[in-house]
Amino acid sequence: MAKDYYNILGISKDASDNEIKKAFRKLAHKYHPDKGGGDEAKFKEINEAYQVLSDKQKRAQYDQFGSAFEGAGGGTGAGFGGFDFSGFSGGGPGGMKFEFGGDTGGFGDIFGDIFGGGGGRGRQQERGTDVSVDVEITLEEAVIDTERDINIYLSSICSKCDGSGAESGNNIKSCKTCGGTGQIRKERRTILGVFAQTEICQDCQGQGEKPEKNCAKCGGDGRTKENKNIKIKIPAGIADGQTIRLSGQGEVGFRPKSGKSVPGDLYITVHIKPHQIFERNGDDVIYNLEINFSQAVFGSKIKVPTLQDEINLKIPAGIQSGKIIRLKDKGFPHLQGRGRGNMFIVVKMKTPKKISKKQKKLLEELREEGL
Ligand SMILES: [Zn+2]
Ligand SMILES: [Zn+2]
Repeated sequence: MAKDYYNILGISKDASDNEIKKAFRKLAHKYHPDKGGGDEAKFKEINEAYQVLSDKQKRAQYDQFGSAFEGAGGGTGAGFGGFDFSGFSGGGPGGMKFEFGGDTGGFGDIFGDIFGGGGGRGRQQERGTDVSVDVEITLEEAVIDTERDINIYLSSICSKCDGSGAESGNNIKSCKTCGGTGQIRKERRTILGVFAQTEICQDCQGQGEKPEKNCAKCGGDGRTKENKNIKIKIPAGIADGQTIRLSGQGEVGFRPKSGKSVPGDLYITVHIKPHQIFERNGDDVIYNLEINFSQAVFGSKIKVPTLQDEINLKIPAGIQSGKIIRLKDKGFPHLQGRGRGNMFIVVKMKTPKKISKKQKKLLEELREEGL
């Protein structure tokens, strides 16, 4: 089950960032699920590999702990070192997160923040705030790829200045206060001597440039709070409590069009409503089937609902109460990789509470016969 991300992308271990990007683009294009001949599972795998290898920090950790994936990837759910795989179904901190690609509409990386550290975040004002949203879906929706429209109120690009922060007709100019460096050097005299300190220039907020005249709508910030509709895709096989990360779909940063500004991420935690007849266990689904005594003795054919359709289940003659029948591949699709879980039908014999006179008589006869 070990995943060789280099192998998946068809590159060598010392591939450059550029080679990684090239290989990813080519493969992602080829296997994109929206295309004829696309392959969603393969596409997810490619994304996963890319998300790790394209991030310096994650790549280094992967290179170092690569073998850990072999140990932990067997599906046991055991944690290994710093990577808490047991957090998978629970979501929350340390839980596994995955991501959709921003504008491709396809699926993004499954691993997401599994390695913890999010890397350099830049200065506060340059990176927009992350936003978290909760979404509830049904169990049936968790079986297939599902779409949801969500409405959130968040900092967006100012419609008047299109994120530049400048009043129309005005240019962005180099900041005079700091000479375009975004920083101001100050000397502090203390008993111990003179210390040089650099501070972020308040005038341009560290940008090194600012509008000649600020936009009247956003005050030069380049962003305003708006209600925004976002269409999200929830991948088949998602478990209750799991979080999807939409990279760059959070709040925009200070002057979003400055070229230095990075939007925050949008985190969507998916909750799955309990189901009336199905119970979920990992990627398996459990269904309790009650049969009566004669069905158990003679065998029977019974219509049984599955997650997506209905089957005619053959109950063999002489079945014992408590017997579990497995329907292969009738469970939830695996979120990672191919295939799906199974359905387990727990057969239980129902004891009648109310019986007719005739039934009573027949049962008494059975009793005489030792049944
Ligand atoms: Zn504006
Ligand atoms: Zn300045």
